[in-house]
Amino acid sequence: MYCCGPTVYRDAHVGNLRTFLLADLIARAITLSGKNVNLIQNITDVGHMSEDISGEDKMLAQAKAESTDPFAIARKYEEGFHKDLSRLNIIPAHLYPRASASIDLMIATIEELFEKKFAYLGNDGSVYFDARAFPGYGAISGNRLDALKPGHRFEYSEENGKRFHADWSLWKSAGTRTEMIWDSPWGPGFPGWHIECTAMSLKLLDGHINVHVGGIDLRFPHHENERAQSNAITGHESVDLWVHGEHLLFEGRKMSKSAGNVVLLEDLVEKGLDPLSLRFSLLENRYRSQMDLSWDSLTASHTTLRRWRKQLHAWGSSKDLLADEQISAALLTDLDTPRAMQRLRVVEKSTEITAHDKRAIFLYADQVLGIDLDRVEEVEPISPAIEKLLEQRSTARLEKDWQASDRLRDELESLGIVVTDSGQGQSWSRA
Ligand code: AMP
Ligand code: ZN
Repeated sequence: MYCCGPTVYRDAHVGNLRTFLLADLIARAITLSGKNVNLIQNITDVGHMSEDISGEDKMLAQAKAESTDPFAIARKYEEGFHKDLSRLNIIPAHLYPRASASIDLMIATIEELFEKKFAYLGNDGSVYFDARAFPGYGAISGNRLDALKPGHRFEYSEENGKRFHADWSLWKSAGTRTEMIWDSPWGPGFPGWHIECTAMSLKLLDGHINVHVGGIDLRFPHHENERAQSNAITGHESVDLWVHGEHLLFEGRKMSKSAGNVVLLEDLVEKGLDPLSLRFSLLENRYRSQMDLSWDSLTASHTTLRRWRKQLHAWGSSKDLLADEQISAALLTDLDTPRAMQRLRVVEKSTEITAHDKRAIFLYADQVLGIDLDRVEEVEPISPAIEKLLEQRSTARLEKDWQASDRLRDELESLGIVVTDSGQGQSWSRA
């Protein structure tokens, strides 16, 4: 399996995480069916150009914004990515190759495309893929070459040296760029984004990928171009199955920096929600459907998740697993996770299934669902935000700032925390 990884110039938002979770769910479902999975996920730390007018490398733009080195940006957000995956119980891929550490491999792949007459050197010094040399272009997205008009959004604005508007760069000439550039047979420059996934997937999965995963926006042009490159090299269909996860909206809107509604996993944690309540919410929807997430649905997931864990504890401590046909059928039928979750709700309420078997069925399902159903729930911790308010109030009281102290008490009360004062100081309980 191959899953397109993050471009490490910022934290992944919950939408990106939906796509990364999709790869994990597929891998776990395949494992449940008795097969082995070898999953590769790349780290894009160079060459992913921004689609806006600047057409800048996302890494360099962010390095400028944070006044630091682009490699420092890459390492910082790569670390954040792994932390998010771990908090979401995503089983690590077998390898996370970095683009910047695979330059030789990409150069060798481009040389192979030259030999096979799919690549040419443009008059701007960049190397391009000759889309018209590949007859099957458009099979994944339906975007056939004759229907593609010049001036598309996906065209990197500085690609002036190509022969045909739908061609794309494999190696970009450095031009005036001085950072994140490497020597190549075509002079200093840097690799294109699409060639990264072709080079890595073919090399690390022996020229044949069974399942290739990404978000729906990657279907075109990223995967369409990748397919052309990979098939041009192998001479056959290199990927058996392209799986695209639909996008996640938040409270009805596309998440974007400009709209100010980008939600991170860290935001859930700060609100005192179990990060796995995100996983829970995502499981309640089919990956093929667009999904709208909200704070209300996350809170509901948090509550149900805690209830299930308490139930499992009450049902015993056996580690037995009981294969439930309805659950395995749901998961192995195009990953119908909502149906598996529904089945668990029926099992929970059943008067016919014994406590031991209920627990064993939940544990069986959790091999794929991955929501830590066997975790013993502690008393719910308070969120860092509430902790801070409690501290502020305690300080206000010590400083005899009664106005602030009353205001903070009311604010805490609206968050469900009741504060009481005594000779020993302030104490609190849940409303
Ligand atoms: P990026 O880090 O921008 O390269 O994106 C990482 C992955 O997240 C890609 O597979 C995208 O298709 C996917 N993605 C981006 N936005 C969303 C969204 N709102 N919902 C689900 N997946 C998304
Ligand atoms: Zn990719």
